[in-house]
Amino acid sequence: MIRPQEKCIAECQTVAKRSENPTIALRLHPSNNHWSFTKGNLLLLFQRVEAAVSAARDAFPSWSSKSPWERSQIMNKLADLIEQELEAFAQAESKDQGKTITFARTVDIPRAVYNFRFFASSILHHTSECTQMDQMGCMHYTMRVPGGIAGLISPWNLPLYLLTWKIAPAIACGNSVIAKPSEMTSVTAWMMCKLLDKAEIPPGVVNIVFGTGPKAGEAIVSHPDVPLISFTGSTLTGQLIMERSAPHCKKLSLELGGKNPAIIFEDADLDQCIPTTVRSSFANQGEICLCTSRIFVQRGIYHEFLKRFVEETKKWKVGSPSDPTANMGALISKEHLEKVKKYVKKAEAEGARILCGEGIESLQLPTRNQNGYFMLPTVITEVKDESCCMQQEIFGPVTCVVVFDTEEEVIKRANGIKYGLAATIWSSNVGCVHRVAKRLQSGLVWTNCWLIRDLNLPFGGMKFSGIGREGAKDSYEFFTEVKTITIKH
Ligand code: NAD
Repeated sequence: MIRPQEKCIAECQTVAKRSENPTIALRLHPSNNHWSFTKGNLLLLFQRVEAAVSAARDAFPSWSSKSPWERSQIMNKLADLIEQELEAFAQAESKDQGKTITFARTVDIPRAVYNFRFFASSILHHTSECTQMDQMGCMHYTMRVPGGIAGLISPWNLPLYLLTWKIAPAIACGNSVIAKPSEMTSVTAWMMCKLLDKAEIPPGVVNIVFGTGPKAGEAIVSHPDVPLISFTGSTLTGQLIMERSAPHCKKLSLELGGKNPAIIFEDADLDQCIPTTVRSSFANQGEICLCTSRIFVQRGIYHEFLKRFVEETKKWKVGSPSDPTANMGALISKEHLEKVKKYVKKAEAEGARILCGEGIESLQLPTRNQNGYFMLPTVITEVKDESCCMQQEIFGPVTCVVVFDTEEEVIKRANGIKYGLAATIWSSNVGCVHRVAKRLQSGLVWTNCWLIRDLNLPFGGMKFSGIGREGAKDSYEFFTEVKTITIKH
């Protein structure tokens, strides 16, 4: 089992901006632009994919033959241990990623705990199918067996939340795993490693490999003994993973980028819609794949919506991640901040209007945060559908508001994009909601709400937003192989 034993990654308060050393990455702290870790040989900690696969292979026979109930008990223990240290995990996630402490405390870490509890429970309730062919003296039934060693790769925006969303179903089904958190945000994964023994997860069942995508990630993806890859990250990396795993015919689950529309009809309840749409645009600094970034508003309410939406956006406080009253913290890195700001500049150059945020107001930050990677929530309007701000994933606190007239028109425009992850519809007309939800090319549609999830149901995107679905039944099907068995009697 690969568990970093020397200087812990928590000490290096993570790691990102790629250094000369290809196996480690040193990181500027998002909230103050200070180097957090600059020395130490971490070579031994990373890139032990081969050893991890060997440990996972050794652990598989015993882990996969435990009963679901036994695995469930162990997973619940791990959930309890993370929960007992919730505050320490939340502090680390906030410092490491730049997100607010409130978001880490109320969303990231509670969800990581729940991921283990949820799959520890759901694994107890699956059934298989059986059919009879009495005329042939036969019956058929299906059986599911774990796929083997699962390779799990996750991004930096919801670090422990998304890593555990993969580890939990994979081990519940009896697989052993090689999991790689993003090199930008590895601290909470490291903290969780320290709890695995305490939870009595047998050695080799959960192997966490720390390293960069092109090195550790590719080594997992192209390893012939890792038949399953569950990946969450950018579309570009997802495409690369498809290529690298093709020679091995691997089973893939890809959760990729999004460019999500919110469609607001004239009969929407604006008192509900406006604060929720501000949140759906800017939560976690806009660094959630499900964030809204294209807002289509019907002409009759366009001016009122815009005025109230901008007023509400201006109330959002950008502050130190440790400030419990802040709505937004720092973006993940200097490079990402520059990329996001460039989109605003491009929109301006194309003739769009910036209504608030970047370039319009100035940030008020505590002295120690003034070199951090902060940005105000930014609202853009008068932007064309074909503009890069309407077509490309920005993954930051920028949202575009445009006007539409008819239902038919808005469906076409909302679908006129390569992505298809999530959409939001606001209307009090239930017929309209159903018609539009059915026709949107989107794996998830929220109506009159945002981000309410039932983990029982499928999660995932269409088109360039991914392949496959995850959730109670879907993850079970992904992390197991089904066999059909025929008995002649
Ligand atoms: P990314 O694709 O750069 O990296 C994601 C992970 O893949 C990291 O662990 C990285 O080290 C690894 N990786 C990079 N190159 C690799 C390679 N060649 N082989 C194997 N692994 C490799 O994505 P990111 O910048 O960390 O995350 C942001 C992206 O993630 C956004 O596009 C966002 O929409 C997407 N995302 C999607 C979902 C979803 O559920 N659909 C959820 C969260 C984030």
